[in-house]
Amino acid sequence: MIDVHKNIVLETDIKRLMIPAQNVACVQPGNSLEHALLILIKSGYSAIPVLDAHSAVKGTISKTLILDGILGLERIEFDKLSERTVESVMSKKVLCLQETDTFFRAIELSINNPFLSVVDEQGVFVGILTRKAILAILYQYFRK
Ligand code: AMP
Repeated sequence: MIDVHKNIVLETDIKRLMIPAQNVACVQPGNSLEHALLILIKSGYSAIPVLDAHSAVKGTISKTLILDGILGLERIEFDKLSERTVESVMSKKVLCLQETDTFFRAIELSINNPFLSVVDEQGVFVGILTRKAILAILYQYFRK
């Protein structure tokens, strides 16, 4: 068991496991909720990262947050989709992994997050690491 733990921590490279930035669906804080909803529906994901023009991670936007943001007292106010911005409803909780962090840190953070944004030393977004990718590695190690 100790050897398995050592191997995972020493050998698993976050950069190798992550989905690179160019393949990640994302939006900017100033985008309309309509735009964000289109991206979410077309990509098939329930939540995606929000990045500013300098590729800094600003938060996360999800279908649930968007629907909550356009909820009126008695009806869903669809006109708000074009009026409101991503920034006004996104989750501003920013929890990032450094690309040099240990795999153990990734496991720890993934417990409460289906995906983690990965940034370089300058804080520039370089990709995401999903809980699925982490579980797949753990499965391989424990299967050996
Ligand atoms: P998965 O493990 O593939 O189900 O992905 C878990 C979560 O990570 C998804 O629900 C999305 O929120 C996010 N995610 C995965 N792949 C992408 C991607 N290419 N672009 C944006 N978000 C993604």
